[in-house]
Order: sequence, then structure tokens, then C-alpha cells
Amino acid sequence: MQAANKEKLVKKLYSIQRSLDRHWVGNGFPVRTLFAYPNLDPLKISPFLLLDYAGPMEFTPTNQRRGVGEHPHRGFETVTIVYKGEVEHRDSSGGGGIIRPGDVQWMTAASGLVHDEFHSRDFAQRGGTLEMVQLWVNLPAKYKMASPRYQSILSDRIPSVSLPGGDGVVRVIAGEFAGLRGPAQTFTPIHVWDLRLGTGQKIDLEMFVGYTTVLVVLKGAVQVNESEAIEEAEIGFFDRAGKSIHINCTKDATVLLLSGEPIDEPIVGQGPFVMNSLQEIRQAMVDYQNGKMGHL
Ligand code: MN
Repeated sequence: MQAANKEKLVKKLYSIQRSLDRHWVGNGFPVRTLFAYPNLDPLKISPFLLLDYAGPMEFTPTNQRRGVGEHPHRGFETVTIVYKGEVEHRDSSGGGGIIRPGDVQWMTAASGLVHDEFHSRDFAQRGGTLEMVQLWVNLPAKYKMASPRYQSILSDRIPSVSLPGGDGVVRVIAGEFAGLRGPAQTFTPIHVWDLRLGTGQKIDLEMFVGYTTVLVVLKGAVQVNESEAIEEAEIGFFDRAGKSIHINCTKDATVLLLSGEPIDEPIVGQGPFVMNSLQEIRQAMVDYQNGKMGHL
């Protein structure tokens, strides 16, 4: 292929977010918000809204409950990916369970629920390292008031594929990679890939023209398209045009690649509610206060 043609197919990196502060969510989750829709052009990152990276942090053994108590959500989905430690969840629609390392919880809040999120009792008593990600995925207007849904996706259901040029692997949580389909059911086309790469590994990934594409480096470091370095707790945003991304791993890395068809609708959010208009946000607050999102 001629260089000029190849150039055109590359998905260009248009921005990197770096050096973010840590804050606490409840008393269990030391979080770096790697991106959040109120601070960016929300349509540019659609259908993704926010990504919190909690830990890695060492917790001493305790009999206390560490985490965040009952709170509501409406209008979107929360996707929790646990790398280390254990998170226990329950919600007012009847969903619940323990999310262990490698497991994913894909929770559709849609019309609304309340839930709590704590370190599991066993993990709290044992102590150890907690490391997890929570991603918020927007819903199209026509599904914002659908019934809540809970997908508990255990590690052994997530297919993994070896990558060429090293011992790296991709775990396909949602969407498709190399002909394998991830188990998560989504409302709009979304690909969520969890990658482990070794130092020196170089790969070309075929992404999706017209989709929002976000590369999240949780640990280690990569160089993208033979130019920019993206390191621990940093994030790269790519143009919708173009198809391929070249990644050169410069330090053993854990990377999340998010890709999704944009939802071209207005976004109005307030705390735990993400809707299309201020009127709908006010309604969400009234419904929550009136107990319409249920109780635990
Ligand atoms: Mn929550």
C-alpha cells in the first residue's frame, strides 16, 4: 500500500487528558475521573459519559462496610470492571451480586433505580488491593425510560484473544474483536476491549470509522501512531474518521479501548441523572424523592 493511502486510514489522536486528582467516592473508592461529560463536549465522547478509575489502593482489614450507600441513577448504564479486590452491589430492581477480579457488571439504570456499592464483606475483612473502573454509557432517548436491567458477566464468559508480537491479550467484554463477540448486551453498538500488553509489543488495531474511540491506559505506557505517549491514568481521544490505530507498548500495560456509535441527541445531566432536557432532570428528582426509583 502506498504511504499516502495508509496515512488517510489512520485514526488521529486529537487530545490526551493527563494528571488527574484523586477524590473519594464514599469511603471505599479512591477515584481518578479520567473523563467526564460536563468537562468535555459531550457529543464528542458520545455514547460514553464518564470513566472513573478507582485505586489501585491497599486497604487494611476491617469489619466496617467500605463504599457508597443508597443513591439513584436514571437515563444511562454503569459498567463496573473489577481488576483487584471485590465489589458487592445490590439495587432496587432486584439486581445484585459480588464482582470479582475479571468480572464485569453491566447495570442499566434506564427509568431509574437506587443501588449501593461496597467492598464485599470477605474482601473488607481480608484486606488487600482494590482496583476497578466504572464507565457510564449513555442511552438513546427512546430507551431512557426502559426497565432497569442487570447483567452479571463473570470472567469465564469473556472471550480472550492473543495478540501478535508478544504475549498480549484482548478480553472482549462488549462488541466484537477478531470475530469473537463479547457477552454484554448493549442498546447501541459498543465495543469494550480490555487489553494486556507487554513491553516492546507493537500492534495495529482495526477500529471503526465514524465511531467515538477512547484509549484508556490504566497502567504502564504506550506510544500511539508513532508519536504521542499515553501513560498511567491517562486517556487518548481519537477522530471518528480513519480506521487503524498503531500501539507500541513501552511499559507493560493494562489498556481499555472503548468504541461506540455516537448518540446524536442533547445531553442534560445532574449528578446521578443523565437525560435529554432540564424538564426530564427535574422529573427525575421528583420521582426519586417520591420513591419511584424504589428502595433497598
Ligand atoms: Mn452508582
